Amino acid sequence: GDFEKFMNWCDEVKTMTIRTNADTPKDAKQGRAFGAEGIGLCRTEHMFFESDRIKAMREMIVSDTPEQRRKALDKLLPIQRSDFEALYEAMEGYPVTVRYLDPPLHEFLPTAKDDIEELAKELGMTVEKLNAKIASLHEFNPMMGHRGCRLAVSYPELAEMQTRAVIEAYINVKKRNPEYPAAPELMIPLVGEVKELKYVKDVVVKTADKIIAESGMDIKYHVGTMIEIPRATLLADDIAKEADFFSFGTNDLTQMTFGFSRDDAGSFLKDYYGKRIYEQDPFATIDQNGVGKLVSLAAKLGREARKDIHLGVCGEHGGDPASIEFFNAVGLDYVSCSPFRVPIARLAAAQAAIKAKNAK
Ligand code: PEP
Ligand code: MG
Repeated sequence: GDFEKFMNWCDEVKTMTIRTNADTPKDAKQGRAFGAEGIGLCRTEHMFFESDRIKAMREMIVSDTPEQRRKALDKLLPIQRSDFEALYEAMEGYPVTVRYLDPPLHEFLPTAKDDIEELAKELGMTVEKLNAKIASLHEFNPMMGHRGCRLAVSYPELAEMQTRAVIEAYINVKKRNPEYPAAPELMIPLVGEVKELKYVKDVVVKTADKIIAESGMDIKYHVGTMIEIPRATLLADDIAKEADFFSFGTNDLTQMTFGFSRDDAGSFLKDYYGKRIYEQDPFATIDQNGVGKLVSLAAKLGREARKDIHLGVCGEHGGDPASIEFFNAVGLDYVSCSPFRVPIARLAAAQAAIKAKNAK
């Protein structure tokens, strides 16, 4: 019917849209049904919260030594690998961008007294020791703390395990479906400095190349980064030297550029709307004057340093029509959004493409 006509029309005008954010095979299938042409952001942490895996995750977090950590990571590897296999199968050969673990680790630990006691028992440690561990992970500003690629700088074995899970899953799926064209895309989040990207990327490349060599298959993969810290936008030419793609994390980029919290700012921003200081929620529609200027600068610097760099957006703005028009105008290649926003995003992208063409 009309929906099908609309989808065909979007195909014809070749929307730049087009991926969707998905963490599970169910999300992926939903996105595909709405015409998404890949997954632009798989937030792997969502795979760790389910009951059968949270225990190994917690064991990893409370480890004192790399050896203990590796033991827990060995338990997580087959779980992640089978999750990624299911995701690749659901996407039937379309690209999937997997992001390395991003949130601060305290988010995975219990807070209630009873739960802490139970966990201590399960892990065979004293309640005092577990409480000390939890206290050591406390941060005053966790969103500006030990998260994103900083986790992999501290615990490279974590990035090693996640790389192994993605590449092995891809190899298994490729063996069953040799016609699937897409190559794995590995995304390193919250980068602010090219040397930290290079440090994590070296771990990723070393691990991936070893697995691929052992498989005897001819497999290419892409390593890219998220641009979500203002410093990274200013140094995007440097960063592009180590990145096959940039995905703008406009949620964090908005938070860090304005200097207010995406989780709390709603409570006072309403005063700003009423007084016409800000017209609208900058977490919903991109602030073109400020945050947008950084996106545009980083896109330009990135392209100057690496002509074929692939540029996209995976913050919530990727599903917002006014923001999509802006991203198209500054030359980004794709947007990624939640599955249910894919039809709106495709329509907005098609309209933006036509408007830009007519303006020429
Ligand atoms: C972002 O910051 O825009 C992003 C996509 O990552 P997250 O929302 O998971 O921090
Ligand atoms: Mg982010």
